[in-house]
Amino acid sequence: MKNKIYSVFMFVLLLLASDLQAADVPVVPNIGLKNQGSTCYQNATLQAIHKCTTLHDLLMEQLAASTSQDPLVTELRNTLVSLQSTVGVAYNPVLFANNVCSALYANDAGQQDAGDFLTTLLARLQTEAVIPNSTPVPGSLVDESFARWHGVSTSRSLTCDECKGGRRSPLLPECTCVLSLSLPAVGPLGSYRLPELLTHFAVQEVLEGDNAVLCEACAAKKKHIGQLDFTINPDLSFMVLQPKRFKFDMSTMAMSKITTPLIFDESGVVEISDSNGEQSRFTIMSVVVHQGDVSGGHYWTVSRDGVYNDPTVTLDAGAAMKTLLTTGRHSMGEGYLYFLQRLRE
Ligand SMILES: [Zn+2]
Repeated sequence: MKNKIYSVFMFVLLLLASDLQAADVPVVPNIGLKNQGSTCYQNATLQAIHKCTTLHDLLMEQLAASTSQDPLVTELRNTLVSLQSTVGVAYNPVLFANNVCSALYANDAGQQDAGDFLTTLLARLQTEAVIPNSTPVPGSLVDESFARWHGVSTSRSLTCDECKGGRRSPLLPECTCVLSLSLPAVGPLGSYRLPELLTHFAVQEVLEGDNAVLCEACAAKKKHIGQLDFTINPDLSFMVLQPKRFKFDMSTMAMSKITTPLIFDESGVVEISDSNGEQSRFTIMSVVVHQGDVSGGHYWTVSRDGVYNDPTVTLDAGAAMKTLLTTGRHSMGEGYLYFLQRLRE
């Protein structure tokens, strides 16, 4: 009898233990995305969004609240929901891909750049009012939501060298979450660091001679100093850094790719000081990697838990991310879109 009670007790204990275990182990979704024929640029971008938690949650919140009937919006929601699933190994985003081609690339079916895809997708979501699209009244609720999406403002100031009068004009897009950074000539180290790219971004440009600008105060064309600035809104919870790897090469009169690696600390923690000297801390959650050249190549995503390459998911507890951050490369590809999540103190 004593033995029987003991067995029942052990059985209940085991049941409790297995329940506890199930509740304790977080279920990390890691679903691949099937390729629809040259759709790796879409798959990689969607996986990077999914793995950048604050961006993903914000987007899901607004997709769930959206009344848009646009099939692109519906299929984006379905695809992101499927990535949250733990059933199956790869989702087939065929309807999303079909709607992307018809909606985003109506006039340019050849467009297959992950950076263009991200900005075009965001612009479409603004058109559909899924994400706020116009500068709101400061202090309003809409203002808060706007700031969470459009935290990076870039502007260009022009200062007359004679009267020191100036004007400032916002760059297009007026406000965004994507900071595109042009790449300077490579220094002796043969690689880039982020502070260098940010300094290069804000470098002054002297406009004189044929390039002199009309100054209204001086009522004449005068030498001007041009300066690009960027500011980061304190409400911004994520941002995307895009080193501009594809550029027009004047010597060959063709597009070319800059493959120089961009190197970070292995922690993936990034401190960014904007043009007002305001410091923000971010952590790199996911990176879209590109292998190849302008005429063709392949995209995949490296995140904090592994590598997402179309339908194939390789979980590695962050090993690939560490390699990518410290060498600028993963496999034969270079980091192209960096998804950053804000760190709050
Ligand atoms: Zn002037």
